[in-house]
Amino acid sequence: ERKQLIVITPTYNRAMQGYFLNRLGQVLRLVQPPLLWIVVEMEAASLETAEMLRKTGVMYRHVVCARNSSAEDVKDRGVHQRNAALEHIERHRLDGIVYFADDDNVYSLELFESFRGISRFGTWPVAMLAPSKNKAILEGPVCNGTNVIGWHTNEKSRRLRRFHVDMSGFAFNSTILWDPKRWRRPSSAPIRQLDTVKEGFQETTFIEQVVEDESQMEGVPLGCSRILNWHLHLDARGLIYPKGWLLQKNLDAV
Ligand code: UDP
Repeated sequence: ERKQLIVITPTYNRAMQGYFLNRLGQVLRLVQPPLLWIVVEMEAASLETAEMLRKTGVMYRHVVCARNSSAEDVKDRGVHQRNAALEHIERHRLDGIVYFADDDNVYSLELFESFRGISRFGTWPVAMLAPSKNKAILEGPVCNGTNVIGWHTNEKSRRLRRFHVDMSGFAFNSTILWDPKRWRRPSSAPIRQLDTVKEGFQETTFIEQVVEDESQMEGVPLGCSRILNWHLHLDARGLIYPKGWLLQKNLDAV
């Protein structure tokens, strides 16, 4: 029996949102079921997102996350939305492999089959592309077979991070969320993302709640030898449309 994949995507209204969500939806539609796509918006479910999800042909849940007033001034970047999805999975005991897929990254189809086979926690190298820096860097594990034996580091990681993993470079078994004993988790407190951590430490702080060390990780695919997804930094703020191309609603692009 094929393991269910549970893909969590925080999303928000901006110029390229329609393009991003459609692109991701079209990849997810090609993944072998069972797959559940949890799309999370802040404050209210937008009609455009709802309509796009209805058409996409993927099994989905459209979740809304209330704004936490104390978080107004914090650079949130989807943290509370991902937590709302984790709460949903935990509350409904949704069994599967959980993966955080931001809407703006690029994913190969093969990626999803690669981490479907993990038992506890899987991780892999992700290529980060930032046009302004004009180069690609790798972030993620160095592996011997499925054993994680080291990490690709970069300028960000000179600051001491325990695990050098991108948000889109790991996946884990959902039962860890509600069954700390079975998995001998470091703590039985709920596993959540924290809005209090410094930039660049979001992933490692999260992963430290899920595993104790590299011995509880599986590198995928074998030898972590291939790049299966890319973390882009395409800033759509201040985007200028050619005259006449202005989109009234951001999802009208399709
Ligand atoms: N995001 C969101 N609300 C925000 C900022 C980000 O829902 O206010 C989502 C965004 O759609 C994406 C994810 O969070 O799916 C990561 O955002 P972004 O790509 O801006 O973060 P970065 O890649 O720069 O860490």
